[in-house]
Amino acid sequence: MRNTQENKDTSEEVKKKGHRLASGLIIAAVCLIVLAAALVFADGRHVRFYFRGETEIQQEYGEEFNEPEIWAVSAGRLFGEGKRHLNVETEGEVDTGQLGKYTLNYKVRYLGREVSAQRIVNVVDSKGPEITLNYKEGYEPDWFTGYEEEGYTAYDKLDGDVTDKVERVDYPDRFEYRVTDSQGNSTTVTRESSFTDTAPKIQLLGEGESEIKAGRHYKDPGVKVLDSKGNDLSGYVQTEGKVIPDTPGEYQIRYYLENSQGEVVEVYRKVTVTPNENLESINPEEKTIYLTFDDGPGPYTDRLLDVLAKYDVKVTFFVTCLNSDYSDCIGRAYREGHSIGAHTASHNYKNVYSSEEAYFEDLDRIQELIYEQTGEYTDLVRFPGGSSNTVSNFNPGIMTRLSQALTDSGYQYFDWNVSSGDAGETTKTSVVVENVTSGCSGKKASVVLQHDIKDYSVDAVENIIRWGIDNGYTFRPLNVDSPGAHHTIAN
Ligand code: ZN
Repeated sequence: MRNTQENKDTSEEVKKKGHRLASGLIIAAVCLIVLAAALVFADGRHVRFYFRGETEIQQEYGEEFNEPEIWAVSAGRLFGEGKRHLNVETEGEVDTGQLGKYTLNYKVRYLGREVSAQRIVNVVDSKGPEITLNYKEGYEPDWFTGYEEEGYTAYDKLDGDVTDKVERVDYPDRFEYRVTDSQGNSTTVTRESSFTDTAPKIQLLGEGESEIKAGRHYKDPGVKVLDSKGNDLSGYVQTEGKVIPDTPGEYQIRYYLENSQGEVVEVYRKVTVTPNENLESINPEEKTIYLTFDDGPGPYTDRLLDVLAKYDVKVTFFVTCLNSDYSDCIGRAYREGHSIGAHTASHNYKNVYSSEEAYFEDLDRIQELIYEQTGEYTDLVRFPGGSSNTVSNFNPGIMTRLSQALTDSGYQYFDWNVSSGDAGETTKTSVVVENVTSGCSGKKASVVLQHDIKDYSVDAVENIIRWGIDNGYTFRPLNVDSPGAHHTIAN
């Protein structure tokens, strides 16, 4: 800007001082090159060309060509004598859209002769491409994703669009965009980068420090991470360390999240597995009945809970996800001292026995419902159809693998040694009572199979309890140390 202003002042000044003097001043000021006299006549008169600038000049490709001034003057034998300006004609053209060397021919006629001079113009590309950066309004990079390029374009007068040749170099405080055109001219532009987003915190779900007894099932409660914009990053958290529920000791789990810059946030959880010293006897001294109810909760579960409360009898429910209207019965049963076990989410044999993955995926779903209702995951499991089922024969060996996998994970699975017959054999309450009481008679420990989605089976419970009390039995809920009443696995 300053330079332009100065040039303007100079030309104002020139106008004030008259033509001849002005010419002299310009000649001195811009260092015109005097071409050696092009022609000297016999009497000493001669013609001289005066060029503004060099006789060979560079012209930028694609930019308007403004021919620099040229003068021709004639002079007498003595310097300054009879000096006059001559009319100069120009021949030749400069195509600034085409790289190359162009010649401009200047001619004057003087005393019947033609005198000429030349200027060479080289059309070159000496400028780098122009890079234009895009800016998205209100955009701020977030901690996890880092900077997401807002975009740019690069255009070169000669090469055209060279956007795909741009390279970005990242620095802590800026990005540099560089591009070089086919003539070797480079351009670099800079984008300031400001990462103001702070690192998110990983929030532990459940206790930061907890204790479990050896042999109990352990399920990691997980973590939650929200970034400053409220995006849930929990799915990107990685874990190091694992609790082995069978082996007493102190375990540390590391949860960490790494962003695109390699920065890490982390949090730790400590889990202590303590030795399990007070195992309940597998063969209790007292005669014990473990009433168990599968496939609920359902419309009769509340009624059943009322009867159990009346006699202060605790039982076990192996629950499903099938009747969501009655899910709160799981919470009620738990609060009233009953045991909650996982039966299955779907009770779909074809699905749960199709693979280990399918089984554990289903188990996870029912565990989530149990956790929702009770605040705890359960260690107790009953297989749909029992561990001896043959409905799973379409997947040979699956029950053998699953029963082992459950035990390895700290679960205890339960079958039964007394069947009430309520699953098809009978629909009569009196027959259910008879099946259960005769089945329990003479056994020290009975694990009884009933279904609380069958009203006639629920209706049998009061009579079963009265019979048990009258005959010296204790009713207990199952825990992981209770008898498993395991069947022989048939698949
Ligand atoms: Zn069932």
